[in-house]
Amino acid sequence: METHFPRCVHCLAPMQSSGVAETLKSLLHRPVTCTACGKKVHIAEAQVMGETFGACVGRFHQKLRQAVEAAPRLDAPEAMRVLGISSASRDAHHIHSMDELFRMVSRAFRQPLRHEATGHETLIKIDMLHKNGATRAVKIHAARHQELSPEVLALVARVGTHDFLLYEVHAPAPTTPVAHHAPATHPGIAAEHAGPDVVGA
Ligand SMILES: [Zn+2]
Repeated sequence: METHFPRCVHCLAPMQSSGVAETLKSLLHRPVTCTACGKKVHIAEAQVMGETFGACVGRFHQKLRQAVEAAPRLDAPEAMRVLGISSASRDAHHIHSMDELFRMVSRAFRQPLRHEATGHETLIKIDMLHKNGATRAVKIHAARHQELSPEVLALVARVGTHDFLLYEVHAPAPTTPVAHHAPATHPGIAAEHAGPDVVGA
């Protein structure tokens, strides 16, 4: 997986290299310029970053796999009701493999994962989404962290053995620093997933 490539310590972009061990060795103590963000990076640090990021992503995937495998299989209309989405929603994605789910979710949670890979506490929580006392789907939430990482919320329903419905909830960007971080108070959950149209689903 590409997460094990050396990565820029500033922006996490994979670092380009000639791939020749001798060249890498000669570059170990000399900074190279990241082609993505233009900042100087030591290859040795980029290698550590690549491994650390890979480990964070690996742990995230493992937890996500356990959660979605524990989620019940729903038919498509019910999955949409549970996630609180309409057929016209551009943020709903039908996904046909676990790998594809990992890719989509890792992309959405890239900044919180980067935050964790740079030595901070994890911001990402994976919980089951309950409706009427029953487990229905999986909720992935990352609290906002100052300017480093935005709040991210995604919901995953299982609609087949390897088929999923993913909904990325985009909260309106706060204009002032948010005072709360509790997932239960997230506007996306409050407004979109506890409305009268999903009660009794
Ligand atoms: Zn960079």
